Amino acid sequence: METIYAEEEEGKLKDHCGVIGVYLSNHDQNASRMAYYGLQSLQHRGQESTGLAVADGEKVEHFRAMGLVADVYSREKLAELSGHIAIGHVLYSTSGKATIENAQPFVSKAKLGTIAVAHNGSLVNTEPMKEFLEETGSTFTSSSDSEVIIKLIAKNYKKGLEKALTDTIQLIKGSFALCVMTEKTLIGARDPNGIRPLCLGQLQNGWVLASESCAIDAMGGELVRDIAPGEIVIINDDGVLSFNFGEKTSKKTCIFEYVYFARPDSIMDGIGVQEARIKMGEVLARESGVAADVVIGVPDSGIGSAMGFSKASGIPFAMGIVKNKYIGRTFIAPSQEEREAMVFVKLNALKSDLFGKRVVIIDDSIVRGTTSRRLIQILRKAGAKEVHFRISSPPVKFPCYFGIDTPARAELISATHEIEEIRQAIGADSLAFISMEGMIEALQSCEYEDDKESVRTNTKAATHRDGFSPNGASNCGYCQGCFLGEYPMPMIGEIGKR
Ligand code: AMP
Repeated sequence: METIYAEEEEGKLKDHCGVIGVYLSNHDQNASRMAYYGLQSLQHRGQESTGLAVADGEKVEHFRAMGLVADVYSREKLAELSGHIAIGHVLYSTSGKATIENAQPFVSKAKLGTIAVAHNGSLVNTEPMKEFLEETGSTFTSSSDSEVIIKLIAKNYKKGLEKALTDTIQLIKGSFALCVMTEKTLIGARDPNGIRPLCLGQLQNGWVLASESCAIDAMGGELVRDIAPGEIVIINDDGVLSFNFGEKTSKKTCIFEYVYFARPDSIMDGIGVQEARIKMGEVLARESGVAADVVIGVPDSGIGSAMGFSKASGIPFAMGIVKNKYIGRTFIAPSQEEREAMVFVKLNALKSDLFGKRVVIIDDSIVRGTTSRRLIQILRKAGAKEVHFRISSPPVKFPCYFGIDTPARAELISATHEIEEIRQAIGADSLAFISMEGMIEALQSCEYEDDKESVRTNTKAATHRDGFSPNGASNCGYCQGCFLGEYPMPMIGEIGKR
């Protein structure tokens, strides 16, 4: 396994992975097609490699490839991967580290059976775990911290599946949303802080686990609820059994999911992502209003906040910028010069919305400042009279150790510059970020209340052992590490990334 120091990371801030799990109650049906639809909907969470593992009650088949979901699975391949249980994965890693060995799901054949694992998140104690495993005879084929998880489960498998899972999960530290599969069972688990998302959905004839609810919608299913921090769900022909794996839980959902990563049509931990972005825009307008003729948003994640800013300020919303749909986040420009050039290829101005106008432009974040600097040039070229930049998240000042690849701290413009210096560097007439309190206020105003009929309170669908309630963890906490440098748990030196 390769261990990466976050401070040494190269490249743009990158997103993490997406996981999916499908269990169909009719054993003659094929879960791989459903999982494929789910992976298509999670493509925004990772575009470098993908994989599926499928079980038919007796054996596990397995396929991994580099590339996009739509390109790598043929009709024939999906038919070959037959079985009523499936788990799948889409992965994002840096260009240099994108190898087939790191593609997931990982599959391990233990004496008592086969285990497959798809993991989203990052462990912070990979090294000691790996040393322990190597000392007891395990070997590793990838540089992924997720391989540690499957090796630990395989090692403990003789104790029985449940015990193997709970023992493993208590040993690993960091962020994890897991889909695990054996020949007969689908399992979901979320770390005690629930940093990375995972939700449960119901199909007409089965169950789904997914990083985001948009994947459940794509399969024609219904979102049941989020998996709670520290919860394990075991899905088989008996239904869904849910229990807590014994650690103290405290919800710390990654706040950047709402800012940037998640699709706007997803509902995550009871909060509609688009609704949250709109609220952030409303708060931003209240905190940093400015006289202007038009509000525009940087596609895609700035659009919701721009709509909210427009609603709260009364300044008309316009499209203003067109995004080239065919340039995904796959493109990882190795040099600053190429990164800058790519902004022009990816985004262009709509002159008719901007010419002669005072423009407010909203983006979800400033990381290095590359996008904002180039965008302002584009807007001025299109005739904007004034450009007021507003950011719907606070300044990103710290690296993430829990699944989001951030560039080295020295490259984070807000870590080294005051807001006025950034304004000058990007060439805006004014610049303002939402406050931390404002962002929390926006999110909290979107939280569903427990007494409302909501996805969070739908506990009927599972059997809960020992009085465990998936709504027990309060919905008030977020990991704000990238903004505040305060993390949900201590780092253990080196960081294994996923
Ligand atoms: P920068 O150009 O380095 O300041 O990056 C900020 C831009 O990147 C904004 O337009 C964001 O929408 C976008 N962004 C934020 N986080 C990520 C990420 N993890 N991967 C790719 N783009 C991102």
